Amino acid sequence: MLIFITDMDGTLLDADYGFEEAQPALQELKERQIPLVFCTSKTRAEVEAYRRQLDNTHPFIVENGGALYIPESHFPVPICSAEHRDGYAVIEFGSPYPEIVDTLLKAAEESGCTVLGFSQMSVEEISRRCNLPPAAAQLAKQREYDEPFEILAGDSDRLLKEIEKRKKRWTRGGRFYHILGANDKGHCVILLRHFYERIYQSVVVAGLGDGMNDAGFLNVVDIPLLMESDEIEDLKKAVPRGRICPGGPRGWNATVLDVIRNYSN
Ligand SMILES: [Mg+2]
Repeated sequence: MLIFITDMDGTLLDADYGFEEAQPALQELKERQIPLVFCTSKTRAEVEAYRRQLDNTHPFIVENGGALYIPESHFPVPICSAEHRDGYAVIEFGSPYPEIVDTLLKAAEESGCTVLGFSQMSVEEISRRCNLPPAAAQLAKQREYDEPFEILAGDSDRLLKEIEKRKKRWTRGGRFYHILGANDKGHCVILLRHFYERIYQSVVVAGLGDGMNDAGFLNVVDIPLLMESDEIEDLKKAVPRGRICPGGPRGWNATVLDVIRNYSN
């Protein structure tokens, strides 16, 4: 059983958050009933909007591995240690959002840095800075486990060390730094694979990502596919097994079709 796990921004989506050029591969996945799992820094509200657009009913991973959402009854096995809410079994890895935001502000104060996080921005400001329509910015602001932020002034190394001192982690993906707790895209993927393996024999997982925040999960999949971006050199060092592929939805399309073709032969 072949399964695709994909990052969204800069991987499936282009700079305007479109995925038109990926339609042939998306259609092929649907026809062959191959699971497509989103694994992203986006919020649950944002992912749900894309799942509706793409008619995707598979599990998904939000906010840089803050939680794994599995639709209830998706797997015919009990999902232990999950919280059950809104039609999902939710397995949480991240710390609560208020705690994350509080840590960021204290670390900024201590290190003399000026930061601008999503909690400090209005929906209009998120919309402008992220080039998102206001309705989408509203969904991006509904955060549960991860705070994206920019460093406007000060010594960024000091700030990042201060975050680590406070037992929180940070990562970088595309436009923003992110502060997070024990969020881990890799842990979510390992756990999810375990559920697929209880149902299907010989599970093969292909993963697609373009940022350093994808390195953790790309290192635990069978076929790591590194989409070209500004971070490709660092990503290749972090995922030595990875195959470099052309970036954006056009590259995503060609890469996914290629993997499906090779797998079926
Ligand atoms: Mg990305």
